[in-house]
Amino acid sequence: MPPRHLADLSAEELRAAVTELGEKPFRARQLAHHYFARLNTDAEAMTDLPASSRDKLVGQLMPPLLTPVRYTDTDGGTTRKTLWRAHDGTLLESVLMRYPDRATVCISSQAGCGMACPFCATGQGGLKRNLSTAEIVEQVRAAAAAMRDGDMPGGPGRLSNVVFMGMGEPLANYKRVLNAVHRICDPQPNGFGLSQRSVTVSTVGVVPAIRRMTAEGLQVTLAVSLHTPDDELRDTLVPVNNRWKVAEVLEAARGYADQTGRRVSIEYALIRDVNDQPWRADLLGKLLHEHLGQFAHVNLIPLNPTPGSKWDASPKPVQREFVRRVRAAGVPCTVRDTRGQEIAAACGQLAAEG
Ligand code: SAH
Repeated sequence: MPPRHLADLSAEELRAAVTELGEKPFRARQLAHHYFARLNTDAEAMTDLPASSRDKLVGQLMPPLLTPVRYTDTDGGTTRKTLWRAHDGTLLESVLMRYPDRATVCISSQAGCGMACPFCATGQGGLKRNLSTAEIVEQVRAAAAAMRDGDMPGGPGRLSNVVFMGMGEPLANYKRVLNAVHRICDPQPNGFGLSQRSVTVSTVGVVPAIRRMTAEGLQVTLAVSLHTPDDELRDTLVPVNNRWKVAEVLEAARGYADQTGRRVSIEYALIRDVNDQPWRADLLGKLLHEHLGQFAHVNLIPLNPTPGSKWDASPKPVQREFVRRVRAAGVPCTVRDTRGQEIAAACGQLAAEG
């Protein structure tokens, strides 16, 4: 794990850490304000702190965690992937996407992933390690700073959404991800102050962790990567299905929807001749209608090709028929506009190759 960073700490923990360093407790608030409100990590710019305290506090509580190795962009610069190197050489990626009405950063919660879904590039390399809370939060800070500074075409703007859809299974790194959600959403100066509703946590379906998250009383959006309604195929597409079956995953999702009153996003990568048959669309619609009623929204993602995979996306007419059938069951369904294919930045393509 990386060195301790203020973004790992709650407000109380930060105060305690600052005091332990021999500084006045109110310095904690000043320091947090620099990081979460001003998005600043440069000690020189912290002129409200006496020079001696500044170097000590920044040195001890804001060590540099992620160094950008490479930026790659597409869509006229409005989609930008960053390859980061952590203190121990670990590589990870995040993707910032600017739309006319919002800006979303897709962040990683782990370096690599242990879930081994065969159609996902990240899954092929296995899990390297969990990211710390601050390593997760730093990806958000960098994106928020890039938006504020006008680094994306369209002039200065604001980061509005965060999706845990980069590398890794967020619910397999539960505590750190939960802490990161607090740092992202808690009001300034102890967090960036984004609304929980604009944060999405996407999971393969780790049922006990979905239940645990339900009990937290959060309002973040839950996305479940279902990819097929039948256990037989899901056992191979999403191997964790061997532990928790489709019905259990949907029941856990229902529990989350009941608790939050919010729709759960059902992710479904459409893979040609694998999971795109009309009967699967019908079964998906029926199951979601039964388990989630109005609390489901299906997001179809035409498969993004990954190196060495024999699979490709379903043709347009097949996509349209799939949408029609799911909707006919009374379940809202849309095809997601996937960005960043040309730069291996789209869903499932993050491999963090140096
Ligand atoms: N582990 C979490 C977070 C990753 S999110 C999860 O699985 O939900 C990334 C999303 O992209 C998931 O829905 C994942 O199933 C999907 N995905 C993975 N590989 C893909 C590919 N090649 N094409 C399209 N979507 C893919």
